[in-house]
Amino acid sequence: DNEIKKIKAEYVRSFLFENKLMPSTWIVIRIDGCHFHRFSEVHEFEKPNDRQALNLMNSCAVAVLEEFKDIVFSYGVSDEYSFVLSKDSKFYQRQASQIVSVIVSFFSSAYVMKWKDFFPFKELKYPPSFDGRAVCYPSTEILQDYLAWRQVDCHINNQYNTCFWMLVKSGKSKSEAQSYLKGTQTREKNELLIRQFNIDYNTLPIMFLRGSSIFRIKGEDSVMPENGTFEEVKQEIILSHSNIIEDSFWKEHPSILC
Ligand code: ATP
Ligand code: ATP
Ligand code: MG
Ligand code: MG
Ligand code: MG
Ligand code: MG
Ligand code: MG
Repeated sequence: DNEIKKIKAEYVRSFLFENKLMPSTWIVIRIDGCHFHRFSEVHEFEKPNDRQALNLMNSCAVAVLEEFKDIVFSYGVSDEYSFVLSKDSKFYQRQASQIVSVIVSFFSSAYVMKWKDFFPFKELKYPPSFDGRAVCYPSTEILQDYLAWRQVDCHINNQYNTCFWMLVKSGKSKSEAQSYLKGTQTREKNELLIRQFNIDYNTLPIMFLRGSSIFRIKGEDSVMPENGTFEEVKQEIILSHSNIIEDSFWKEHPSILC
């Protein structure tokens, strides 16, 4: 009888497939809000950039870094966040589905718990959800290119959205604004903002222009305690809106991806 149970368990387990991420590669988990176009309308986010919604995203990401020590860096914009796990992380034996699901569910529940701290006068109308995916980057250069790509995307979307919403707020319909901007280049969009709305794109709040990076820096104040073992080096979690496209950021913070 017990033997039969054992055989059955083994047989059923045999269908479980392994989904281990390649060893010694940077793991990036990118999460993205599901249907946040609608979510942001239902919750009347300021357009194009609701500062409090971004602050809420950032606060959830800080909580994720506090919870999951293997995350060394993260970058967020709009309704997305990318979390970078260290190359040698053994978190969940590097199984993609477990890592993705635990980060996504932690982030989502933090978002709900913190909602009232950022929107004390707005009711959360329905449970938000996020999707997540895992990608491995085999070298630090490629990882940096990935992060630069997300920041370039932030810039392109923000510039488009700033123009779009200025046109809409000045009386154009959404489809008029859309066709007005169709095919325009960066320079033309900047000129439009200056000419029609007296907005210098580069003076917009830095968080809107560049998105947000969160990372740890090792504190200088590590001490040798009585028992002779090193105490865990105190790590501070930093939120910044740096340019991560340029190499200089990584040169100034060599310990992040070491
Ligand atoms: P999907 O489920 O495919 O991700 P989505 O509607 O979430 O669909 P995204 O491409 O992820 O589409 O875009 C997110 C949308 O959420 C933006 O286009 C924007 O309308 C809205 N949004 C997210 N964050 C903010 C914010 N801080 N302020 C204003 N709007 C925001
Ligand atoms: P892991 O993170 O590895 O899943 P775990 O602590 O969640 O660790 P599980 O094997 O998933 O371990 O077991 C869930 C545990 O949660 C149970 O052992 C039990 O202690 C507790 N638990 C879950 N649901 C209930 C419940 N309805 N009533 C009482 N205890 C519960
Ligand atoms: Mg999506
Ligand atoms: Mg989305
Ligand atoms: Mg998105
Ligand atoms: Mg479990
Ligand atoms: Mg459990």
